[in-house]
Amino acid sequence: MRALWLVLLAIVMAGAEAAAQATPPVREISKIAGEIYRFRNNNHYSVFAVTPDGIIATDPINADAATWLKAELKSRFDKPVKYLIYSHDHADHSSGGHVFADTAIVVAHAKAKAAILGEKRPTAVPQVTFTERMTIVLGGTELELTHVGRNHSDNSIVMRFPKERLLFAVDFIPVNAVAFRDFPDAYVPDWIESLRRVEAMDFDILAPGHGPLGRKEHVNQFREYLEDLRQAVLSLAREGKSLDEMKQTIKLPKYEGWAGYQQMFQLNIEGMYRLVQANRRGN
Ligand SMILES: [Zn+2]
Repeated sequence: MRALWLVLLAIVMAGAEAAAQATPPVREISKIAGEIYRFRNNNHYSVFAVTPDGIIATDPINADAATWLKAELKSRFDKPVKYLIYSHDHADHSSGGHVFADTAIVVAHAKAKAAILGEKRPTAVPQVTFTERMTIVLGGTELELTHVGRNHSDNSIVMRFPKERLLFAVDFIPVNAVAFRDFPDAYVPDWIESLRRVEAMDFDILAPGHGPLGRKEHVNQFREYLEDLRQAVLSLAREGKSLDEMKQTIKLPKYEGWAGYQQMFQLNIEGMYRLVQANRRGN
């Protein structure tokens, strides 16, 4: 019986592997504004700018995706990638940078470099780092890199193209979507503050690392979501309620229509509870 079960399990697993191999990744390049394009690899997105003097690329996502992108850039534009900029250190966005390292200067926040080295991320180590702000100019295109504080990591930066009025921000400003899972690697009070800093910046189009493009008002909406969730969890924590009770009680109907509300909202409560409890002391 046990042998039969193992044989059946092996067949099911082989089938799942074959199905995974048979589904090719969804990869696309689409124009956003001016010469700024969006690169998609399944659910992950980055942006790149094509200038007369070469290309400014951002998150490579992974080695296969970056290899595909490099070939597309060659055939469509025939220009080398001169700069490669990581939004933050997390492997699902920063991997594969070595694909562009033959022509590109790799740039990231100083703490992203430290995490990339420490976690041995499968990517090129940044050659140029900064802590607060840096401007890159290539072929008439200006790109402003700013660390707006800690949020979804301690090294996330925003990338603003002033001429195109576009901002690329990854994992900390979801557009009409709740936060990812239970807030891994997150700093919530700083996150709220960093969203206020982004709200004070001058741009129209918000290009996130996941999901559809947004606009500036989505920054404000997501900040309000974090504040509403934090307040709900903090109030119940002060009433001595348990996490289970909070998961039964807390509903934020204003955000019910957002992506991930059904799948992730309970995890968002769990994560916020963990973070709130880490920074309060009851009586
Ligand atoms: Zn991330």
